[in-house]
Amino acid sequence: MLESLFRPKSVAVIGASTKEFSIGNRVIRNLVDFEFKGPIYPINPKADEVRGIKAYKSIMDVPDGVDVVHMVIPAKFVPQAVEDCGIKKVKNIIINSGGFSEIGPEGEAIEKDFLARAKKYGIRIFGPNCQGVINSDPDIRAYCNFTFTKPDVGYISIVALSGGVAEVIHQGFSEMGIGTRIYASNGNACDVTIPEIIRYLGEDDGTRVIVTYVEGLRDPETFMTVAREVAAKKPVLAMKAVRTAEGAKAAASHTGGLAKEDLATDLIFKKAGILSFRDEGELIQAAAAFATQPIPKGNRVGVITNTGGPAVIATDVMVGAGLTLPPLSEKTEAFLKENLYPEASVNNPVDVLATGNAAHYRACMDAMMADENYDCLYINFVTPFFVDTDSIAKEIVAVNQQRIKPIVCNLMTDRRQWTETVKILQDGGVPCFSLPGVAARALSAMVRYNEVRSKKTGEVKAFADVDKDGAAAVMQQAIAAGRKMLAADDVYGILDAYKIPTAGWAVVNTPEEAENAAADIGFPVVVKANSESVIHKSDMGGVAVNLADAAAVRDAVTRMQAKFSAGDLKFLVQKFTPGGTEVIMGAKAEEGLGHLVMFGMGGIYVEVLKDVVFNLTPLTTVEVEDMLSEIRLAPLLEGIRGQKGADRAGLQEVLLRLSQLLADLPQIQELDLNPTLAFEDSTCVVDARISL
Ligand code: ADP
Ligand code: MG
Repeated sequence: MLESLFRPKSVAVIGASTKEFSIGNRVIRNLVDFEFKGPIYPINPKADEVRGIKAYKSIMDVPDGVDVVHMVIPAKFVPQAVEDCGIKKVKNIIINSGGFSEIGPEGEAIEKDFLARAKKYGIRIFGPNCQGVINSDPDIRAYCNFTFTKPDVGYISIVALSGGVAEVIHQGFSEMGIGTRIYASNGNACDVTIPEIIRYLGEDDGTRVIVTYVEGLRDPETFMTVAREVAAKKPVLAMKAVRTAEGAKAAASHTGGLAKEDLATDLIFKKAGILSFRDEGELIQAAAAFATQPIPKGNRVGVITNTGGPAVIATDVMVGAGLTLPPLSEKTEAFLKENLYPEASVNNPVDVLATGNAAHYRACMDAMMADENYDCLYINFVTPFFVDTDSIAKEIVAVNQQRIKPIVCNLMTDRRQWTETVKILQDGGVPCFSLPGVAARALSAMVRYNEVRSKKTGEVKAFADVDKDGAAAVMQQAIAAGRKMLAADDVYGILDAYKIPTAGWAVVNTPEEAENAAADIGFPVVVKANSESVIHKSDMGGVAVNLADAAAVRDAVTRMQAKFSAGDLKFLVQKFTPGGTEVIMGAKAEEGLGHLVMFGMGGIYVEVLKDVVFNLTPLTTVEVEDMLSEIRLAPLLEGIRGQKGADRAGLQEVLLRLSQLLADLPQIQELDLNPTLAFEDSTCVVDARISL
């Protein structure tokens, strides 16, 4: 679908300008300088030519068909220009101009207007308020963009709404001497969307790695579907900004990006198998490694160095990221003892010494590539005056081109003096970094990616023993009654319908009813005030625990009747079940995505430590397992120091059933099971709340 946008055969510029310092001039210059393979048609009613190229008074006068039109004209002229393009059968329009939805209602109206016209003619709109696209494919060479980074041919494609960040990423690669393939920055993205572009890049054979930056997802569901599909084919590396309220404000003020502080995007990345980053530098450096290297099959790294300290730094970073440095196999050790200087350190890291030469490096690389103890190689290469560094570089390239295991190289040099050495490595596709920690993080990202991709996803369980219709009927009644918060009997009724274990319960109105209910449930019991106005029950004196007999129950109810005057006041009588570990489970609706589910330690821990983790519905068997082990206090659930652990299987089942409940009852806005008590071999919810 987007073929003619990313691989245009001809480009016209409406708003082509004869003024050197203008976008309408720069776009043409960029196309010319980048040696665009097709004709360029400047459109300008007053000039005969722009930058020496014949200009046309109107798009209608262009002799041939036009795949891409740039519009660099004031917003108010855009709708009519789109209309003209429609008659001319133009396929795509890149609207560089601003003044649309990003400035408010007035601009939004113009955006709607031109979009309707474009739809009428089947024209695709890229932007508005955007930079445009670049395709470095030698057959195309389309620089439909007004920025300045001129990419070498490469395998990395970049997509982002934000032109500034797309440019930052582009420059990052350029500075490292790494080429890129397709570049797409679509500003307001009123028509062509990011997921659509990602799907196209997934199909583009020249793209090996996709790098994207998002400030919040407009259509999370589509993003998730597309990302899953594409990430199965090639690495997708993503960064999300907006982690603070201040970041959200900054984002809202510069694009129509609809950014908000969110957790969901990271979870979407995770569910889709996208590798996510928190730092743009790390993203760029990792992509550089992905572009040329095979994916490691495991986390075991062999380190080769000709300098001590930097290998230590790299080792710390890699081990911190979960990589291991296994010792050399006997065979490797024997081989290296024979082939390196006697003073060399034959271990992992192996230190060939500063005087180590090309043959030494080669021996190490060959041995570690063949050694089954290693999945990837980290190389430190400092360029001393007293060795032939070009030859070392050539050996690294030769081994790199065998593509047996991934390599990263921390190249410590003066790039102005060792130009040849640098060039050999660069042309040879060796990802070179200028700091040991940076190279180590790039390699760690590749290992992390392998883990993400090879991780089992688990399955979404569909429990057949639930009473979906019963629960839905309860919900409907509550909605019809205009309730914001469900009453206790409704809440516990819904949990019972989904076989989520609760402490034995009854809802009553009077002290007498409470006594009878308690006798049925069996002492000891708990009595809780139930009213829409009593939110934090225990803080307000609305919870009486460990009531041993009828008199205690009567007394508790009578006291609460005196305390709370609410018209809807009822009482929950509940089995008292002391001694379990308190955990919290919760859920919150996420627009367009289902629900965000939370799990963590309950009681005081949730407030003090915020020891909670999140995931998105539908939860899978593997995800609920992970949720239990990802919290910091996970050892408490596993059992430590002779203490028995908690009913992990039971907790996981509650999370899975909760996920099903949330999928079936999307009207639930928020849900809290706080606490859920985890015993050695059973689980039981003792406080639950559902709001609509
Ligand atoms: P709220 O959260 O509104 O203050 P809860 O119903 O959670 O009220 O009760 C407060 C605390 O009392 C719980 O966190 C738990 O420690 C304890 N508790 C409540 N119900 C029970 C019960 N049935 N068995 C054992 N402990 C309970
Ligand atoms: Mg509670």
